[in-house]
Order: sequence, then structure tokens, then C-alpha cells
Amino acid sequence: MTTETAPASNAAAEGKPSLALYLHIPFCTSKCGYCDFNSYEGLDHVVPDYTPALVREMELWAPAARKYRVDTIFFGGGTPSLTSIADMQVLADALREQYDLSPDVEWTLEANQTELTREHLEGLRGIGVNRLSMGVQSMHADELELLERQHTPERVAQAVEDARAAGFENLNLDLIFGLIGHSLERWQSTLEQVLAFQPEHLSCYALTVEPGTALYYRVQKGLLEEPDADLAADQYDWTRERLAAAGYGQYEISNWSKPGQACRHNLVYWHAEPYLGMGAGAHSFFIGRRMANLDSPTRYVEAVNASYEERQASASGRAELRQVAGGEVPDEATQRADAMILGLRLLEGVDMEAFRTRFGVSVDDAFADALKRHEGLGLLERADGHLRLTERGLLLANEVFVDLLPDPEPETGV
Ligand code: SF4
Repeated sequence: MTTETAPASNAAAEGKPSLALYLHIPFCTSKCGYCDFNSYEGLDHVVPDYTPALVREMELWAPAARKYRVDTIFFGGGTPSLTSIADMQVLADALREQYDLSPDVEWTLEANQTELTREHLEGLRGIGVNRLSMGVQSMHADELELLERQHTPERVAQAVEDARAAGFENLNLDLIFGLIGHSLERWQSTLEQVLAFQPEHLSCYALTVEPGTALYYRVQKGLLEEPDADLAADQYDWTRERLAAAGYGQYEISNWSKPGQACRHNLVYWHAEPYLGMGAGAHSFFIGRRMANLDSPTRYVEAVNASYEERQASASGRAELRQVAGGEVPDEATQRADAMILGLRLLEGVDMEAFRTRFGVSVDDAFADALKRHEGLGLLERADGHLRLTERGLLLANEVFVDLLPDPEPETGV
């Protein structure tokens, strides 16, 4: 990948296609046992070089990105709330200078309540962050210990109060159900406590034991049981009913919001629209390519700096984007499968006419066998011009998704 310089643009946003920006902050104070995200503890020595590298990566992408209007920004991690307000200000200034931000940009930051202070929250609001997403996970101390989270339920309550006092009016809380040895009643207690905070948005995920995590090794060694899938299904069913009764609309398999408060950034992913990820390990779907940055924060910083220096020294203003570890232009079959799988995650499902317009083929022609099978099994249904998962399909979504994947290319021998 190469890029080139272009003059800063103050072009009006009208008429530009929209773009979502993701910035990855990979640092955490400690690694939680279940976490397989690209996050690291003990890399404090990389932090001083990381913000300048992010700014440089923004500059490297700016010539291409300025052709778009940025409607959403998402700082994910890792723990973005560990970034100092001084560094956040540097990043915010660079974003405003280099990119064409929509006046009503949705700007989310993931926060860990362990170390979150009122002063820090006020600083975030001051630079323009308007949506906060906190990894609460559970309101029971022993369950937080199982997950190796560092916070307490009391700390969650204090952080929510501080966030409200700092002016955050759009708050997401992440929760995990299906915890090992965790009853329906304990999950109900967590959800009821969290509802008392009146968040605008809730994300509720079933615990998954990911290979390579500390939790995985504990389960493999027999120190912990496998999560109980039947219990998780009961908890999920109850969650759907309870949140509907509390006035939250479910709009995605794991996401609920108050009316009009769905996460605009994540909707970009589910609608298979362009997004540009920056930072270590960040993924993108931009200029027709899928790309992934180097995972290692140290190698990421070195690569961005090398690209930046090459660009500065180049008469043409071009430079190889060394931080991009891999990229591909997805073929038509992959793009159709992406649009289906991502779209079916949404409760509204896939707009069949929009699919035909985009790909020049109907969903029935593109996925004839899979649709027949899963409609027959009662996992898919049609309504109002959309194809969507049924209630039962929401629980068995992965079985549907696997069948929508394109067939692998046949291997050719020599
Ligand atoms: S705080 Fe979040 S990103 Fe960091 S280790 Fe824990 S779960 Fe992973």
C-alpha cells in the first residue's frame, strides 16, 4: 500500500460518502483472563511513542480519507481511558485538522472504570467525546474475580455517577452472561442493578472461552468447567424479554438501546460500509480493501515512523504503508457473504432489494441452498422485504452464518 500527500481540505461535508474511524489503544493495566483482544499489560515504555505514531498514521491516511465525511469515531482497546487527556487532546486536534468531521460526529471511547476519575471524564467531554462505553461485565465481585477484572461493583456505580456528572448523556455498558457457575438469578441481579443506572445502550455477550487466553488454559486443565450453553440460552431469552419491558429495543444479536440511541459506529460494520482503523492491530475496510495493521505496538510504531520518514523524504509524497500487515480486495462472493452475515446480525435483517441493487443478484440466487435449508429449519424468515433471523435463529446464528460462507477455492496440485 502507498499513499501520497494532498493539501488540507475544508470542503463542505455535503456530497461526500461517509466514513467511520476506529483508533486502537492497545494498553491495559492487567490482562483479563478471558480477553483475546489485541491488548497488552506491561508496555508502559511504548506509550510515549504511541500517540505520535497514531498522529502520523492519521496523516498518512488523510489524503484518501479527506474524500469522506467522518460520521463516527471509536476509540477501542485495550483501554483507551488510560490515555492521558493531554494525549487525547493531541489526537483530537489531529483528527479535526486532518479529517472532515461531521458536525454531529458520534465519538465513542471505551473506558475501564477501575481508574476512571471525574476529572478525566470531564477532560474527555471537553475534547468532544460524547459517548462512553464501559466494560462492566458483572455486578458481582466473585464473577469479576473469575474474569480477572480489577474493578468492583461499587466502582462501577461511582464511575456511572461521575460520567453523568461530567455530562455524558450517551452511555453504553458491556455485560457478560453465561459465566461459569453463574445462575440465572445472579445474571438477573446483574442486569437489574445495571438497569437502575438507566444507560442509553447495553451490550450483552455470552462468555466465550477463546484459545490462547488464561481462561482457556484453566478450562483445558479442568480447573474450571466449560460454560453451560443451555444456561446461557435461558439467560439470553430472559434478557430479551426484560430489556424489551424496560424500553430497550434490540437491534443486533447482542445490542440493545433506548429509542434513537443505537451505536452509529457499529452499524457501519453491520451494514458492511467503509471504516478506517488506525493503531496496532486495527482492521479496515477502506478503498475497497480489507486491511489489518501489525498487532505488536512496538512494531506498529516503528513501521509508521519508517513510512512517515519515507514520505517526508520523497519528492512524490508517496510512501509504503508499512504498518499494514495484510490486505486483500475481497472477491464478489466474499462481499456478498459479508453483507449477508453482518446484515443478519441486525434484528431488521438484510434488505433484499438493497442487496440486489448492490450486487446485481437476488439473495435467493446467491444463497439458494442455505436459505432453503435455514428457512426450512425455522432459523430464517422474511418480513417487510427483509430476510432476518427468527427468535430461534438468534440463538443459533453461527450455524446459519457458516452456511453462507463462500466455498473455499479448490486446491490445484502441481
Ligand atoms: S480491560 Fe478489556 S481489553 Fe484490557 S485485558 Fe481486560 S478485557 Fe481485554
